Amino acid sequence: MSSSSLTPTQTLLRALVKRIDDSKMSANHLPETAEFLDGRRQHVIWYDELLHRVDYAINDDILRISAVGEIGRLIAQVIDYIKALCEGTTDCIPFTLAAWLKYELGSLTHSALGVALVPFPNLNYFYQDIGKTVQSAFGDLDRFINGNIRTQLGQNDLVDPPALPSDLILIGFQYAMSNDILFNSILFHELGHHVYIDSKIREKYMPQITIDITARFTAQVPDFATLPPIHKTQLIRDFSNVVERWLNELFSDVFAVAIIGPQFCFSAHDMAFQKARSTAFSLTHPAPALRQVEQWKTLEDIGWVNPPEAFIAPNSTFRVEASTHFSQLRGTSPTVWSLDPRWNNPLHTACASIAIDEFLRRSPQIRVDAQNAVPDRVDRCKEFWRLGPAIVNTLNQGIVPSTIVTSGVVDDIPLSRLAPPNCFQYNPRPTTVVNSARYIYQDGCKEIKKLWGGSSANQLTRDQITKVHLRLSEWTQKAVSDWLLINGVS
Ligand SMILES: [Zn+2]
Repeated sequence: MSSSSLTPTQTLLRALVKRIDDSKMSANHLPETAEFLDGRRQHVIWYDELLHRVDYAINDDILRISAVGEIGRLIAQVIDYIKALCEGTTDCIPFTLAAWLKYELGSLTHSALGVALVPFPNLNYFYQDIGKTVQSAFGDLDRFINGNIRTQLGQNDLVDPPALPSDLILIGFQYAMSNDILFNSILFHELGHHVYIDSKIREKYMPQITIDITARFTAQVPDFATLPPIHKTQLIRDFSNVVERWLNELFSDVFAVAIIGPQFCFSAHDMAFQKARSTAFSLTHPAPALRQVEQWKTLEDIGWVNPPEAFIAPNSTFRVEASTHFSQLRGTSPTVWSLDPRWNNPLHTACASIAIDEFLRRSPQIRVDAQNAVPDRVDRCKEFWRLGPAIVNTLNQGIVPSTIVTSGVVDDIPLSRLAPPNCFQYNPRPTTVVNSARYIYQDGCKEIKKLWGGSSANQLTRDQITKVHLRLSEWTQKAVSDWLLINGVS
């Protein structure tokens, strides 16, 4: 068939195959991304061949047009994700971070879920369960084809479609920060969105949210009773969804804090900077100040702020200094939360006030749910209090803390697999390393400055400070990468 006689749907299918082929020629994908793209390429070619057969074998105009329409609709649903996936290459993504995210998610959900990182040119973060999205779209289409088209074509004339895709989530992140593992700790929030869906938190809360919103709009919003029924239903649905979205965001924040502790709060604060004190809720996110308060409460719940007495004696100076740094994260806690200016009309303002109230009522329970999604959260925190001082000391000497040696055994933490007999050697987990690195950062890099010829009191030049921060991030990344290797993730 010449290209001039292609239907728009066929043109789209072929453009998508070309996009995947071009990306495979020039890009270096993570194994799960490459496998996913290969599978989708086969799928798209299969649909292209199907359309060709439909064209000459089916005389029923309506059936033929609906087959073309269904395939076009499917491709429209998934094309953006597949195109985005084509951009996610190991030349421009932090490989260690991708492997770390995958490892943490796999150990919590006991699944072999792949994580594809895709860079964006602007400051933005994005989560999509691309495996499920594509499975659902292609699954619907396969059922449509089996029910309506297969019999018309004859069984032997059509081979089975390729297998549906494996599990893969896509996380979009800011390209400019791709090499900074400390800043990119923010990506654990995006993992939280996946765990929120996986744990069926929406299903747990949504029915009651809708019941409560309905009752309160009816009783408390002026003029609500006089609205047409369709308008009422729409308002209830919209604001129930807004409350649920806020709960999802809060869950993801708390989950990230439970996994990697204060470094998540620091990186979230780095990103929000001047907006961090804002008390305004948007349609998609709770107020930044409230998010900080909830993150702080989570740090307290887990023991990041006040370690148990047993940890204090050997490391008392470190404990006091670390707690001082963490306390900088405490958010403002106003009694009145403000509203996004987009809701600046009496009806929406009244509805939004109730929505905020319904969200606040549920936030303590969401904090519990999100923490429970990380069963070893307290162990992670304890390890920081136990090994943190030794790691800080190691980093301050410019040594990558993949393995640290202590003068005595540290309770509850397994010795390094490679430790010689009678040696106390540990492989600290990534959570411990990133927080130790951040501790140095918060402490003004006092000791580490000496490596660049300064004294702890001297100011470094701008150039030297940049070098210190870069090295700190690089050493952290190396330690995380070694830890993954030791734990069988390559
Ligand atoms: Zn989010």
